[in-house]
Amino acid sequence: MEIYQRIMKFCKDVKDKTKQTYVNNKSKVKPLLAESKTKITSAYSGFKERFKGIMNIDNKKTTYIAVGITAVLLVSVIGYTKNYSPIAYEIKMDGKVLGIVRTEDEFKEAVDAIKKEIKTLYGHEFVMPEDVEILEVKAKDDELTKTQDIIYNIKKQMDMKVKAYALVVDGEEIGCVKDKAIAKSILEEIKLSYVDEDTDYEAIDFKEKVNIEEVARGIEEIKDEEEILNFLIKGTDEEAIHVVEAGENTWTIAKSYGIPMEDIHAANPGLVPERLQIGQEISLIVPKPYLTVVTKEYVELTEEIPFETETQPTDSLYEGDKKIIAQGLEGEREIKGYLIKENGVEVDREVLEEKILKEPVTRVIAEGTKERPLTVATGTFARPTRGRLTSGFGMRWGRRHEGIDIGAPIGTHITAADAGRVSFAGTKGAYGKLVIIDHENGYQTYYAHASKIHVKQGDRVYKGQHIANVGNTGRSTGPHLHFEVRKNGVPVNPSQFVKY
Ligand SMILES: [Zn+2]
Repeated sequence: MEIYQRIMKFCKDVKDKTKQTYVNNKSKVKPLLAESKTKITSAYSGFKERFKGIMNIDNKKTTYIAVGITAVLLVSVIGYTKNYSPIAYEIKMDGKVLGIVRTEDEFKEAVDAIKKEIKTLYGHEFVMPEDVEILEVKAKDDELTKTQDIIYNIKKQMDMKVKAYALVVDGEEIGCVKDKAIAKSILEEIKLSYVDEDTDYEAIDFKEKVNIEEVARGIEEIKDEEEILNFLIKGTDEEAIHVVEAGENTWTIAKSYGIPMEDIHAANPGLVPERLQIGQEISLIVPKPYLTVVTKEYVELTEEIPFETETQPTDSLYEGDKKIIAQGLEGEREIKGYLIKENGVEVDREVLEEKILKEPVTRVIAEGTKERPLTVATGTFARPTRGRLTSGFGMRWGRRHEGIDIGAPIGTHITAADAGRVSFAGTKGAYGKLVIIDHENGYQTYYAHASKIHVKQGDRVYKGQHIANVGNTGRSTGPHLHFEVRKNGVPVNPSQFVKY
């Protein structure tokens, strides 16, 4: 191909490209192109004539140069028009850019699309916030935002504000629902949960100040009836469930979570601990209801009157001793009036009429004031000697061991475990040297295998009195104290009274 033709073709291509680039924006580019065309044509002729004269070159060469310069011009035009940015609008909400549109209508379209979507999906009226700014800017086509992206940005940045109804308890917003009827029905349901069909109610109210307020909220904040109801009743949306495993009971479960037993019961009303089953789910969250339902009901009832308890000091008993003089007995009365309950629990009553059917009988307890002599049993036992436990109570080598053995060196003091009267002091078969104290309260204590006895039968001894010394007399395999506690003559385990 001739070089000239190639240059002409290049010029044509450039022209076509320019046209093509702006075919979408004809109105703006057309006058520009027309202007450029005239300028380029006249420049081309001008160049051609001038070069022809000055440089005295032939027509063909002149053409090359002219075409070259023209091409450079064209390229400049393309560059200019390519950087040309027409008017557009930047939409900002809460200071954040939602997008750039060529016309404001495109933004309205996006808003309408959201309105329609919300209405269809949620039945809500979409409320566009007022903090939307529209700024005139310059933007090229490829800088514009697609409608779908604007919709997405609006949803994201405005948290999809919709009209909702908030339940407000003592100024604290508990949650919102999509319409007022749902909010009302939630409150109604809570009231009804403490109401009994057959009862005659004077009033059913909430103790707290409860309001339903119209608000604009993010779509994700809108809860359904069930959620709010649960939240109001439990006081939290926290969930903690324990699945019962083999061998567990409410006590072990409470212990494993470090929570009080009462909490397990409070969290699971109606739970029967004896009927706990493997796989059963129990809640670990104690409900703290947000709302207190206060009911006032009219009642006519017969009820017990609890008896009172009175104590009477008496010097016929030792200090710390008690004796019931008169058993208490409940009375009975008939009542007409109002019971005031909070969440089903009586907190107050307004008695209109009361008729006593039976007077209660006061329980009378005598409390001793007489100083207790040191030689009268206190009712508790102290360790009878120092040493360590060498043998416990119960079966041993096929025989019953009726006391405990405390190993200690010969001569170690044996002291009375409690005060009382020495009922035996001497040698008795396998016991060897033995002291028996009768505490005169049903208990007797035995001190056996002694090396030395310091009391005699009939002596009164005080608690802690030195009565004998540890020895190895009778059937004994080494120095120790054999200590027995008998209740009405029957040996019982001394370890329930003294610790070694
Ligand atoms: Zn023994």
